Amino acid sequence: MRRLETGRLVLATHNPGKVTELAELMAPRGLQVVSAGELGLPEPEETGLTFKANAELKALAAARASGLPALADDSGLCVDALGGAPGLYSARWGGPQKDFNLAMARVHAELGEDAPRTAHFICALSLAWPDGHTETVEGRVDGSLVWPPRGQNGFGYDPMFVMAGQTQTYGEVPRHVKEADNHRARAFAQLTPLLPPLQP
Ligand code: IMP
Repeated sequence: MRRLETGRLVLATHNPGKVTELAELMAPRGLQVVSAGELGLPEPEETGLTFKANAELKALAAARASGLPALADDSGLCVDALGGAPGLYSARWGGPQKDFNLAMARVHAELGEDAPRTAHFICALSLAWPDGHTETVEGRVDGSLVWPPRGQNGFGYDPMFVMAGQTQTYGEVPRHVKEADNHRARAFAQLTPLLPPLQP
């Protein structure tokens, strides 16, 4: 297991929301986050067959191109009765307009009336170094799907997903509640031992 040293860390995403969120988590550990977008790095094609493979290829591409350690994530919704779809293609089911009402309607239509509603979210996080070393983890949260979608919070498939043991959808629970314990938080928790300690 390799530990990250303080200094600059590239976040292999062009999504400014993810950069802000991550920069806040990393600053107390002496890590300054710069995004692949800010450095003008190209976005590699996500050709992997698993969430971990995609996170790893994005992190490695950014680390090699920048000469700095890089962190990348890949996530999605896996519906059991659909053989794990939309899975790696979760973002693409929203179409060019990223319309997740459309994506949720497609999940609902493909499920039909009688199929089991169980589903889970997965988030893979990969840390890569310029010499090609990687450390990759995965977080998962189980739940079930409801129809019609409920709530305006969150994003993507949140309004149709209810975490196991809960009654409200991710679209209904306050943002801080969802963020405290979800697939992304569970993946981050596994990365913590690899990060520099919190600075006094
Ligand atoms: P990516 O992590 O940017 O590749 O996005 C994958 C896609 O999975 C997103 O566009 C969402 O549609 C879906 N997804 C990932 N995590 C969540 C979540 O926490 N809630 C709802 N949808 C999610």
